[in-house]
Amino acid sequence: MNQNFASDNTAGAAPEILEALAEAATGRAMPYGGDDWTARVERRLAEVFEADCAVFPVATGTAANTLGLSIITPPWGAIYCHEHAHIILDESSAPELFTGGARQIGLPGAVGKLDPETLARKLANSGQGDVHHVQPAVLALTQLTEWGTAYSPSEIAALTEVARHAGMRVQMDGARFANALVGLGCSPAEMTWKAGVDVLSFGATKNGCLAAEAVVVFDRGLAESLPFRRKRAAQLYSKMRFISAQLEAYLADDLWLRLAARANDTASLLADGLQALEGIELVAPVQGNEIFLRLSDAVAAGLAERGFIFYPWTFGGAGVYRLVTAFDSEVSEIEAFVAAARDLTGKRSQAS
Ligand SMILES: *Cc1c(COP(=O)(O)O)cnc(C)c1O
Repeated sequence: MNQNFASDNTAGAAPEILEALAEAATGRAMPYGGDDWTARVERRLAEVFEADCAVFPVATGTAANTLGLSIITPPWGAIYCHEHAHIILDESSAPELFTGGARQIGLPGAVGKLDPETLARKLANSGQGDVHHVQPAVLALTQLTEWGTAYSPSEIAALTEVARHAGMRVQMDGARFANALVGLGCSPAEMTWKAGVDVLSFGATKNGCLAAEAVVVFDRGLAESLPFRRKRAAQLYSKMRFISAQLEAYLADDLWLRLAARANDTASLLADGLQALEGIELVAPVQGNEIFLRLSDAVAAGLAERGFIFYPWTFGGAGVYRLVTAFDSEVSEIEAFVAAARDLTGKRSQAS
């Protein structure tokens, strides 16, 4: 039984994705994205987003983020993001490399979310127009956030309005886009361009693909340099059909939404089970497939001893941990975790 709750990238891949790859592995196809799978994915994403968007499949989220950022900031630009954002903490210097030196500026915000007032206050002292300072260029949002929370479309719109007012563009890191979408129950368009997002990293790897993400650019004019940037970044695959085939299967028959719903539902189940136990406290609302909670040292150590794997979340302070479910999480795994936690917190259920 799976006992690994460290991240959703510890999960494998959905069978539908593997079947699509096997199918794509026969016959000839033109290379470098000149294949039919890539053309169909472009059309499908245009439908999904109700927009004439430009689509660039890549194989890592870091590539999607940094290439996306590179088309909306000059090398002397400033990228405003949450202080715990993946682009500032987890992508080494790739953002600097691909943007030619733009600087990320981390802002505080409860449970992973930026707020318009903090952003506006920071921008008021940004040195805009002063040659000695990096120039406000991008607002970067993560959806789900690094704390597993989701911005509502109106929260996104309020932030992008502040950015727009300062002449900035908006990027969204959607490594867990489907989880946020399913959690909110809104449309992909409402969560992106209708709320002011210009460029999206559309994540699929964590939700059932092997390695597939896409940069989605809602204003085609912004994407002119992206084919050249992607090649220069070594992200233009000669057998692109295999990246695109994953994305095509992911988007077919709402597979992506079904996979995310399973991850979210098992996360809710886990959160409910744990919250009912004495001494366990959630430190952020569960709005997707991630749970942030406080455990005593004894309970955390006991769970680890029983084989459960999960990371401490140091930004939450001592005793805070992160649990992540995935597209293939089983109810029985959740029950086993809750039962172990119940045992360790000393509250045995009547049933067992
Ligand atoms: C996983 C993740 C990514 C993608 O990371 P890669 O390892 O480059 O694929 C990007 N942003 C967030 C918030 C993530 O959790």
